[in-house]
Amino acid sequence: MKVFISADMEGTAGVTDWEQVQSRYPEYTRFRRLMTEEVNAAILGALEGGATEVVVNDSHADMRNILIEELHPQAQLISGSPKPHGMMQGIDASFDAVFFTGYHAAAGTANAILDHSFSSASVRQIKLGNLIVGEVGLNAALAGHFKVPVALVTGDGTATAQVKKLIPQVEPVVVKEAIGRVAARSYQPVEARRRIKDGAQRALKRVKDLKPFTVPRPVGLEIEWHYTGMADRCMLIPGVTRVNPRAVAFKAKDAEQAYTVTIACLVMARSTL
Ligand SMILES: [Zn+2]
Repeated sequence: MKVFISADMEGTAGVTDWEQVQSRYPEYTRFRRLMTEEVNAAILGALEGGATEVVVNDSHADMRNILIEELHPQAQLISGSPKPHGMMQGIDASFDAVFFTGYHAAAGTANAILDHSFSSASVRQIKLGNLIVGEVGLNAALAGHFKVPVALVTGDGTATAQVKKLIPQVEPVVVKEAIGRVAARSYQPVEARRRIKDGAQRALKRVKDLKPFTVPRPVGLEIEWHYTGMADRCMLIPGVTRVNPRAVAFKAKDAEQAYTVTIACLVMARSTL
């Protein structure tokens, strides 16, 4: 059994502020280690739950956060950015289950640690068809494109509840409860890791019953930005249309194309910052 882990950082136990997850701040050094340990807990749970191969994709910011020398030796690590499949680089039809570790809620979610969708600086809202989605929705749809179900999500209570609503069969592991956007009551890291390991093992017990998250084709994608200039840049991408001054749309043939166009739009929007 092959398990793919997309590892983000904001949903790590103890994280409440950007300074803990951005490499230019001193606190980051501690929190990248705590992130690595939570990924290790998920790997351990996966291996104990029957996984024979685990691939981890570093999915946070510049995607160079996980300390490879401290990663579980049985896992492989994908790192660096940009990558065509971003937070899901490496996913394909050979996997049996996806884990989302250290995840956070979508932009515009109340009482959720550092809620955002791909970029706090640029994205106001993303829609996939009629659904307002965050990173989870897009990442799960790409996994679904390859017929791989999402088995586990770890993060704050609001983020995991949001994922559960979209993907009812997912195993949620709550490592902290948000008190607004930048404060939380958190489990101590050792306890958080125990919960993640147990959750991962439980999730794989049910893997045969899990269904991939799929969206009907063609896939309507709509991205609303904070600034009109970001929409201007996206209009340089063939097929992208203007919905309103802040928002652009694209009709994708499938979830994979919706994903790569989203990545392209994010790169364009970032060039305006
Ligand atoms: Zn992140």
